[in-house]
Amino acid sequence: MNSTDATTVIPAVPEQADPLLASLDAREITAWFGERKVLDRVSLTMPAGAITALIGPSGCGKSTFLRILNRMHELVPSAQLAGEVWLDGEDIYHPEKLLIEARRAIGMVFQKPNPFPAMSIRENVLAGLKLTGTKASRSEKDDLVESCLVKGGLWNEVKDRLDAPGGGLSGGQQQRLCIARSLAVKPRVLLMDEPCSALDPTSTRVIEETMVELAREVTIVIVTHNMQQAARVSSQCAFFLAAHGTPGVIVEHGDTRAMFENPRDERTSDYVHGRF
Ligand code: ADP
Ligand code: MG
Repeated sequence: MNSTDATTVIPAVPEQADPLLASLDAREITAWFGERKVLDRVSLTMPAGAITALIGPSGCGKSTFLRILNRMHELVPSAQLAGEVWLDGEDIYHPEKLLIEARRAIGMVFQKPNPFPAMSIRENVLAGLKLTGTKASRSEKDDLVESCLVKGGLWNEVKDRLDAPGGGLSGGQQQRLCIARSLAVKPRVLLMDEPCSALDPTSTRVIEETMVELAREVTIVIVTHNMQQAARVSSQCAFFLAAHGTPGVIVEHGDTRAMFENPRDERTSDYVHGRF
């Protein structure tokens, strides 16, 4: 691919990142499902204000790694974990750290848009407040719904029908509603697992633009199979690989443009140029 063209479309890093943005640091992460080790001592710093893209073939542990970053891995009964995840100075796995705090600080958007279909657009945005027990007045809720939908890039399309069901929106709109919903609890990091792979190219572009805007206030980690997308939106990139049934590792990580234009490892070069 021509990565120069792909990187010129959207600025990869906001010019002025908020100094209060959080960085996420995964240290020596090893993960198992039952006896099977699927990640082996993976360390990665996802810097504040950056969009970090996790790339690599299917089955190399990208989704597992992402789920470890907000403690969703432990929902699988057979799952085990070694290593640490730090959100700025805080260990999110510290025994005294409440799970709900970690989940609130580190939001997640999935591949398949999953709004509550029968709930209204407004109720969808506010759903996280109930889960976290956050109190807000009617006017605070109105302001929150508007600001989250604006940040999710959906406000103009839905402002006249906030009471319509979320399930009635198009796929791309539903995904933007899910982004707006995840923003309502004011996360410091947003994890996105192939957020556009169920969407058409136009919706994909809208979400990419939304993501780049959001990176001004939320640190973003995205898993993507789409190399053009990684090149367009991310400033940092990590290439995961699990060769011949061995556990997933990071082969190479760093500045996205450098990695696409001048990869240090031959396997990275093969992957980003579609030779896998
Ligand atoms: P990727 O997102 O890179 O495609 P995953 O993290 O989904 O990879 O999967 C990594 C490995 O872990 C794969 O071999 C997959 O089959 C296995 N795996 C993922 N989820 C589970 C699970 N809930 N139970 C058992 N094995 C799993
Ligand atoms: Mg995956």
